[in-house]
Amino acid sequence: STHDTGAARNAPRNPYAGVYPGNLFMVVAPSGAGKSTLVNALLAQDPAIRLSISYTTRKPRPGELDGQHYHFTTVDDFLERHGRSEFLESAEVHGNYYATSRLWIEEQMKSGHDVLLEIDWQGAQQVKKQFRNAVELFILPPSLDALEERLKKRGQDEPNVITRRLLAAGSEMAHASDAEFVIINEHFERALAELQCLVNATRLRFASQYSRHTELFVELGIHLPHAE
Ligand code: 5GP
Repeated sequence: STHDTGAARNAPRNPYAGVYPGNLFMVVAPSGAGKSTLVNALLAQDPAIRLSISYTTRKPRPGELDGQHYHFTTVDDFLERHGRSEFLESAEVHGNYYATSRLWIEEQMKSGHDVLLEIDWQGAQQVKKQFRNAVELFILPPSLDALEERLKKRGQDEPNVITRRLLAAGSEMAHASDAEFVIINEHFERALAELQCLVNATRLRFASQYSRHTELFVELGIHLPHAE
């Protein structure tokens, strides 16, 4: 389900109104594209970016910790939170529910932290309706063979789950054109450098700079365009 409350439709026309000082990044990829490794390397080098911990009804994999990799929860609890509009977006992926906490995201962005969401294409679509400045990045594998290899090596899931995810990867990648940015993860170091470029360039957007340095902009006589 989506959470389109009509907010985007009725939003003020001033393109800088309501912009938080923090930026919102969404990283979308098929399972096996190497998304988590890239994101973790980015986070290790850039403490200004905070990773959103999603809610999920999926069972933890070996080594996964509650509150660190996900907030693991039950279907009942998930649906209750959904009913209380706690989620910025939510989606069913591979037969489990996933969602992003709205409150946490907004708190982080208001206090100037950049937030990164690792979500699927359905979630990205919902977030873009509410945060039009949100940046969507798609990470692709360098080939279909490489994707299959990575899925097999991971080996944490049952074989039937791997097959299901390979099929799901195809339908995820069918939505790559929704994204404004694409990184092909062939050489890890290069892909990481590209990811850092995207983050740094986004921080230089007028809206983001204005929001972070409002006093300077006002002092320099730089004003926002009037709402139409
Ligand atoms: P996994 O179960 O392998 O950790 O994640 C499976 C899929 O769910 C991935 O494509 C991941 O991006 C997506 N996902 C994880 N958290 C969220 C979320 O909060 N919202 C949405 N829409 N998708 C998510």
